[in-house]
Amino acid sequence: MTKCFSCCDSKKLSKEHIIPQAIGGKLSARIYCKDCNDQFGKEIDHELVKGIGYFATGLNIKRGRGKNRPYDVTWLTNGTVLTFDGKEFRRKKPTVKIERDDERIRFIDIRAGSKKEIEEISSKIKKKYKLIDEIKKMEDCHAGPTETVMDFVFDNSPIRRCVSKIAYSLMCIKLPSEVVFSSSFDEVRNYIRYGSRIDLASANYVSTGFMTDYVRPLHKIHIALNRRRNLVIGFVCFFGTFRYTVLLSNSFKSSLYWPGLDHTINPVTGSFIYGNPHFKAPELEIPEILSPKHSRRLVLNELEKGHKIIENYVKDHRLLKIEAEEKS
Ligand SMILES: [Zn+2]
Repeated sequence: MTKCFSCCDSKKLSKEHIIPQAIGGKLSARIYCKDCNDQFGKEIDHELVKGIGYFATGLNIKRGRGKNRPYDVTWLTNGTVLTFDGKEFRRKKPTVKIERDDERIRFIDIRAGSKKEIEEISSKIKKKYKLIDEIKKMEDCHAGPTETVMDFVFDNSPIRRCVSKIAYSLMCIKLPSEVVFSSSFDEVRNYIRYGSRIDLASANYVSTGFMTDYVRPLHKIHIALNRRRNLVIGFVCFFGTFRYTVLLSNSFKSSLYWPGLDHTINPVTGSFIYGNPHFKAPELEIPEILSPKHSRRLVLNELEKGHKIIENYVKDHRLLKIEAEEKS
């Protein structure tokens, strides 16, 4: 029995990944009880994985358990929904059209994801219509679509809570526990558990350029201190592309000082990356953390650069244009 870093009850703690393993997180720790972990899994981790998990699928990231989540894309030329599992595109649902002359079947048009699927469907049709003659086949294979579109979400309230939890979790394993349990971090603990009217994290493309090298799809967590303002700032980046800042505390008063807590991994190779130990993250003020003044253009540019990272890593993978819908 130890104290859970989320609900602060004395309970048995369960082992969980700090960055969800579904997107390639490797570091795990026993810091939360099972109830808290289960709640996080359902409410917030799931949202993050749903939003940006397609990167893990595209990069074929090896997971400890489970399979990479296939994602749906729409084939631009005809609107068909296809599923991409990291290797190939498949039709989500087969289509079958049957043309008849009175009672006689003249023509059957089957479109499916594989030859096997076509065989299965045609044998069912033969049975159903009691067809004795062999069906004359005309096969037409398409290697794959040329252009597809998909939606993804990388910034909403559950995702911000999840990102806050990820930054907070690194702090839990790196700092002395009495410091983490101090009232300085009550607000962020409550925010992670329940959310609040004002979010304590934001997608941030200003002052977070140091979180990516634009070459490797790195996951990075960095915890910095703005001593003058008593702020503890979390920087979180996934796949070198999705970058966030978290206000972990605005009332941190302690004699403790740290040079910047860092955790960086390459989720494709699974290797840890050691950075410059003398590096100092920017000392941001609260508005810069919670409402960064980044333009829409800058965000789109950075996301496009992120997609280039995938193109560097995966053969035959081309991610073209990114367009953003304005939030209402
Ligand atoms: Zn708990």
